[in-house]
Amino acid sequence: MNLRLEKISKSYGSVHVLKEITFGLKPGIYGLLGANGSGKTTLFRIICGLLQADNGQVLFNNQDIKEQAENFRSVLGFLPQDFNYYPDFSGLKFMLYIAALKGLNSRAAKKRCIELLDFVGLGDVKNKKIRQYSGGMKQRLGIAQTLINDPEIMILDEPTVGLDPKERVRFRKLLSNLSRDRIIILSTHIVSDVESVADEILILKDGILQTRGTAYDLVSEIKGQVWECLVSPNEADKLENRFLISNRRNDSGGVILKIVSTQRPTPTANQVPPTLEDLYLYYFREGGQDYDETNTI
Ligand code: ADP
Repeated sequence: MNLRLEKISKSYGSVHVLKEITFGLKPGIYGLLGANGSGKTTLFRIICGLLQADNGQVLFNNQDIKEQAENFRSVLGFLPQDFNYYPDFSGLKFMLYIAALKGLNSRAAKKRCIELLDFVGLGDVKNKKIRQYSGGMKQRLGIAQTLINDPEIMILDEPTVGLDPKERVRFRKLLSNLSRDRIIILSTHIVSDVESVADEILILKDGILQTRGTAYDLVSEIKGQVWECLVSPNEADKLENRFLISNRRNDSGGVILKIVSTQRPTPTANQVPPTLEDLYLYYFREGGQDYDETNTI
């Protein structure tokens, strides 16, 4: 099984949101990482056939999805960002409703929906109204509904928005429990959502797929460029103007800064292993700002 995008481009008026995006995916979990407005939803809507690209093709098993629209819909599970939950339905009633829309016969549907609600940890609250569900419970219900047709491709648009840290952990566990013979793509602007769970991460910026790879591969791009130093609050403020700071924390002896820089930023700075968070900040530094790293303190 494979999904391939060939030179997908999309503009809204004069704004080029996607510029010849090309990549291929085989079964696995992929994290599409990009700042808000970087085009993730646009890309997903094109993959799902809900939006026409200006140019380019989406191919499923080497055939354009436009030539196999019905087949493609039957293998697709999509959780949009603005998913509509019908608050007065119970979780089970909602699942049965979606199952009916997807054409499952009612006996098979009930069994499948109950199994899926158990799988996402909503078995005990399946008869409660959705309006009583927490944000995390609603998102798990969202995942459950994408699974009704046992999709080969699952597309989850910002599935962790609004979740608290505990719900995020639970969501990640749920994702890693999904069977591995599907292509699962989730978008996020939060690094920790995908760092541990995704087999590969794709970084989208300025309409271009900047890079892709495992978290390990990607961070090696800035190996030797991440530093930590203990400085006074005053020095820290000065350094913040000149360097890309990936973290600042107070310490009894002053301020510990984590800095991404090709050069040692202060004589006492120590090199530390890079993380995906550092890399993300490196890619998404404000306005692609270049720092004047030439004058070390
Ligand atoms: P993301 O999902 O990464 O936040 P989007 O795909 O939603 O990004 O949006 C990418 C850019 O395209 C944004 O600048 C957004 O304002 C713009 N955009 C999205 N949809 C439309 C639309 N229907 N009409 C005009 N501009 C749009």
